[in-house]
Amino acid sequence: MAGVVAPSSATTIPHATCLGCGCACDDIEVAVSDGRIAGARRACALGASWFGDGHVPGVARVDGSDRPVDDALAAAAHALAGARRPLIYLAPGLSCEAQRAAVALADRLHAAIDSVSSATVLPSILAAQERGRAGATLGELRNRADVVVYWAVDPGVSYPRFRERYADLAGPPPQAAAGTRTVLAVDVGGAHGPPDAGHRFTVAPGDEVAVLTATAALLTGAPGSEAVAAGAAAAPAGGQACGAGTAPTSVWRQAEALVAVMRAGAYVAVVADSEPSDDRDPGRASALVSLSQALNAATRGALVSLRAGGNRSGADSVLTSQTGYPLAVDFTHGSPRYRPHDGEARARLLSGAVDRALVVGDAALVPAAVAAALAAVPVVTIGPRASEAPLGSRDGIVVDAGQAGVHEAGTALRMDDVPLPLRALVPGPPGVASLLRAILARVEAASHGTAVAAGGGVAR
Ligand code: SF4
Repeated sequence: MAGVVAPSSATTIPHATCLGCGCACDDIEVAVSDGRIAGARRACALGASWFGDGHVPGVARVDGSDRPVDDALAAAAHALAGARRPLIYLAPGLSCEAQRAAVALADRLHAAIDSVSSATVLPSILAAQERGRAGATLGELRNRADVVVYWAVDPGVSYPRFRERYADLAGPPPQAAAGTRTVLAVDVGGAHGPPDAGHRFTVAPGDEVAVLTATAALLTGAPGSEAVAAGAAAAPAGGQACGAGTAPTSVWRQAEALVAVMRAGAYVAVVADSEPSDDRDPGRASALVSLSQALNAATRGALVSLRAGGNRSGADSVLTSQTGYPLAVDFTHGSPRYRPHDGEARARLLSGAVDRALVVGDAALVPAAVAAALAAVPVVTIGPRASEAPLGSRDGIVVDAGQAGVHEAGTALRMDDVPLPLRALVPGPPGVASLLRAILARVEAASHGTAVAAGGGVAR
């Protein structure tokens, strides 16, 4: 795919990383002209939009009045240090360095800290913690998967270069003996797989978890599963099996048809969207995890969970590395505690257990339900274009920051947790990591009765 075409006088910066979706394509050539992004070669339309032209506002406000950045940071430090039950919320669009700085600040403030993952991928994370998970890097998918099952997702919609870079459009898997790739689309209700898949299978939404569970049982040879499936196969057929695009009436018959394709593969990748926009059966995430494990009883296989953009996987990994838990961490009592069921940000806000919030990252990507819950408390918002998407009650503090990967260098994780460098491509406001470190320095200084010099700690 070709991005925006650059003027011939532009400087080209190679190997820029796009955070427009979880693919984190790191092969983008960005053209820079007069301090603006003039083109992003190889970026898809979503990626080109994510890079934009490199312009972001550089405003700082306290209670609605424009103020110097230092004043806003001092006000933020004072407000957060004075809060009794602060919450730090990690929106998408942060470098790992900024996420680490946010965790350090939460630790110092005895705050709760949560991320957008609580509102999106919580079922997948809990299922993996409870059952384990057979995963793979995207490189392994590209090189080894000779059967790719798209479970209710067409990556072309929200992950435009996924197939081109890592899966069935990348050519046959180099390390597979068969030298070909079989592509299977499983349509669940209105959530369809790729339209050009070689095999197509339809599952009613109400049967989804049952089909996944039956498929896993057949793959592992669970006692009785083969006999039940054989009985289903002998029953009068109400539809056709895998590949025909018509829904069979029997869950077991559907499972048998899926197993026939999967068992033929030496390495089966089940690709599913961890952050679907539509409502799914709450048991789906756990059933997919079980299926990926069962695959390894019959052949080799992995679950590939698609993640949206903005270094969301990075937030999970940074929180895990620094606290032991991937989301919904509470420092109220000093040491980190895990509150995935009763303490996620929205529930905490709605229960009145928050008296001040700090939102860092792209405020426009805070889930609507969380943004609505934030309306009841004063909020400090720090991120790219924060002044264009104010959150919380009126007496808030807003500091515009540079965009990670455009103005701020650092690190981000691809959806498979592979770390990639972020480059500073054009000049802009200070990044979130630098601003958070400056706030932490002010909080520390205030607790020790010392002062921080103007501009102290903010790298520009
Ligand atoms: S596929 Fe995703 S990461 Fe790659 S260029 Fe498009 S938006 Fe960016």
